[in-house]
Amino acid sequence: MTALLAGELPVLPSSAWKLTAPPPPQCSSLQETVEADVAIIGSGFTGLMTAITLREAGKTVVVVDAIEPGWGASGRNNGQVIPGLKWDPDVVVQRYGAIQGARLVEWSGTAPTLVFETIAKHEINCFPVQNGWIQPAYTGISIETIKARCNQWARRGAPVEMIPEHELEHMLGTPIFRSAWIDRRGGSINPLAYARGLATAAIKLGVSLYTYLRRTASYLRTHSHVRQRRNDSTNRLFCLYMVWPATNRIPSR
Ligand SMILES: Cc1cc2nc3c(=O)[nH]c(=O)nc-3n(C[C@H](O)[C@H](O)[C@H](O)COP(=O)(O)OP(=O)(O)OC[C@H]3O[C@@H](n4cnc5c(N)ncnc54)[C@H](O)[C@@H]3O)c2cc1C
Repeated sequence: MTALLAGELPVLPSSAWKLTAPPPPQCSSLQETVEADVAIIGSGFTGLMTAITLREAGKTVVVVDAIEPGWGASGRNNGQVIPGLKWDPDVVVQRYGAIQGARLVEWSGTAPTLVFETIAKHEINCFPVQNGWIQPAYTGISIETIKARCNQWARRGAPVEMIPEHELEHMLGTPIFRSAWIDRRGGSINPLAYARGLATAAIKLGVSLYTYLRRTASYLRTHSHVRQRRNDSTNRLFCLYMVWPATNRIPSR
């Protein structure tokens, strides 16, 4: 099962997220034949948001996970809700052109708003705080990088600014950084609680969520895109479309 590392048990390790998150919703394993318009493999942020969006658009949706919602990176990350992509806005526009690139930049800048609106809409108890995201720097090169990044967003009207030097230590809690910028669209959440909340919201909307599936990788690999089934003859999953991978990486076996 590719969702587990060698020797790993299917039990989330202790973390601040786990200690403070509500429990996951009750889910069952796939015991019977199910049918859906769309089957989604993986119940992290990607799979669950896709499921909610499709369900709200009127599709029947099944989500399956080898372990449980938030088991992967979604339940174990830093919990920072960050606007933008890995590439800076100007790079995105250079790569994708003035129209598509600009749309991608705008979409990525509004991503935190989507997250915080989703949390409010589904009343997800995940300690959301939208008080900005700070990126500090302490070398000459990284200072130039963050200044350029901040300028690129400012030119596009985003609520960003360089933090005045005299406020750095107070805001960051350490004297080691020489510069920092803040993007006020960002914030933080408990990501495991968010993933579990998305799962609960999806189930409430009518999404079927099956967890602790065994042999999911072989069931994924051995059957067609139109008709998916587990590799035993009794438990079947029929769907028109499959969203795969929502597994953070492509299952290798
Ligand atoms: C250490 C770390 C820190 C990060 N910090 C941040 C941050 O602060 N802010 C931020 O925005 N992003 C952060 N990220 C990135 C972010 O966590 C990921 O981009 C995001 O969680 C990916 O979500 P996902 O749903 O695609 O994948 P995942 O959350 O990994 O979900 C994949 C799911 O698929 C299931 N699965 C895997 N294989 C199979 C299979 N064969 N069959 C069935 N199910 C399967 C898994 O059990 C899992 O539940 C961080 C990532 C890491 C690793």
